[in-house]
Amino acid sequence: MAINWTEAQIEEVVKAVMSGLSAEQQPTASWDASGYNGRAYIGVFEDMNDAIDAATAGYKAVRAMSLEEREKVIGKIRELCRSEAATMAELGVAETGMGRVEHKTAKHILVADKTPGTSDIVSAVKTGDYGLTLTEMAPFGVVGSITPSTNPSETVLCNSIGMIAAGNGVVFNPHPHAIATSNYAVDLVNRASAAVGGPRVLVASVKKPTLDSAQTMYHHPAIRLLVCTGGPGVVKSVLSSGKKAIGAGAGNPPVIVDDTADVKKAGKDIIDGCSFDNNLPCIAEKEVFVFENVADELIASMKANGAYMITAAQADELAKIVLVESKDPKTGIVKKSVSRACVGRDAAVLLKKIGVSVGADVRCIICETDFMHPFVQYELMMPILPIVRVKDIDEAIDLAVKAEHGCRHTAHMHSKNIDHLTRFARAVETTIFVKNAPSYAGIGFGGEGHTTFTIAGPTGEGLTSARSFTRYRRCVLSDSFRII
Ligand code: NAD
Repeated sequence: MAINWTEAQIEEVVKAVMSGLSAEQQPTASWDASGYNGRAYIGVFEDMNDAIDAATAGYKAVRAMSLEEREKVIGKIRELCRSEAATMAELGVAETGMGRVEHKTAKHILVADKTPGTSDIVSAVKTGDYGLTLTEMAPFGVVGSITPSTNPSETVLCNSIGMIAAGNGVVFNPHPHAIATSNYAVDLVNRASAAVGGPRVLVASVKKPTLDSAQTMYHHPAIRLLVCTGGPGVVKSVLSSGKKAIGAGAGNPPVIVDDTADVKKAGKDIIDGCSFDNNLPCIAEKEVFVFENVADELIASMKANGAYMITAAQADELAKIVLVESKDPKTGIVKKSVSRACVGRDAAVLLKKIGVSVGADVRCIICETDFMHPFVQYELMMPILPIVRVKDIDEAIDLAVKAEHGCRHTAHMHSKNIDHLTRFARAVETTIFVKNAPSYAGIGFGGEGHTTFTIAGPTGEGLTSARSFTRYRRCVLSDSFRII
């Protein structure tokens, strides 16, 4: 099913969802790690060991369900995800201080509509002289999932649908800065399960996720698979756990615009993608390399579509605010990292920090920089887009590949030259490569294909779905069952 939503349609969806909210769901709520508006979350525990025990019971219940029963639970999750999309979006923005409610609402609806369920689980059969061999996609057991602050409830819901469809149980160690939002989604899955006759606690989480609770999860014998969505530190820690792990890590997606592109459309697409949820999605455009003969036209189109251009001096001033320096006490080496207080903030909020006042219609800050500028080199996750002029396709590909830093996550290109498109795709080797569209087309938003918020480049599963959370099992029936 293809969804080709425009900004206007997204607004329509948000309005429709908001108007359908009951008084209990209105996002004026009080909330914490264990409840929302006086309703205690189901499946959220003090201790990780208790959460794992509950997820293990959930796994046993899923194992006992028919595929039809699993689909019923998933259908109810989709229904609640749609009807409570705006509530979770509002809560996510309120708790983390990051992103935009209308875009987060659209992301939840995307999860509800385009996360594959049990149909993703398919069996294979091989027949021949020696009979029949059946290969089935079996559950791992209980999955331990670590989720980010950038798409908190979206990731919990998307993971839950896929992992339950595959027949697993799930326990979450959510991001400490997004506990209430993530646990809202855990509770939603459990409410969905109970509503259709499933167990009251199907998936579980903890009230106070920490690095220690993550370690408990890594080493608990009941956890058979770890799935981690986050930055380089946590992906590395999961991959060092000694268990089978799926790692969905950081990116720094470059965009190339050459002189065969529909430049006006490219400018709009890039701003639409870059400013979506204030650049929080890991797939969002992070830096642009544009042929110098079309650079002015591209910048004009960006400005016409909500971009605000700052000078080189202003860019340097802003860089000192959005990137903070810290000294490693052991080595004395000074390292820059992205300021959490700036990640996912509105462009107007960021501009205010350098004394520039603009209206809410400004969606993105753009500036011309050289390749070594920190805006090009760091994964900012905020609506700031550096633009680097290049002379030809060789320079564009060379710099874009370097800016991606070998993450092999996502890259974008606006061009009508098939050779250029093919050369960049081959050189950058990313999991997602989007041509002539905003970045979110790569996760099924205005592009074909299923959605996910766990894009596993490092471990190779790509855009995860139910089948990513399965193990292959073979059954051989010797010398029989062939009908020809
Ligand atoms: P983060 O790396 O700060 O945190 C992710 C999770 O890991 C959190 O739950 C955090 O508490 C936990 N964590 C961090 N270090 C840990 C450790 N050593 N051991 C155990 N747990 C640890 O991520 P974030 O800031 O919320 O998200 C942004 C990052 O995640 C970006 O780099 C972004 O590109 C990436 N991301 C990737 C994908 C993808 O699908 N590839 C999706 C979303 C976000």
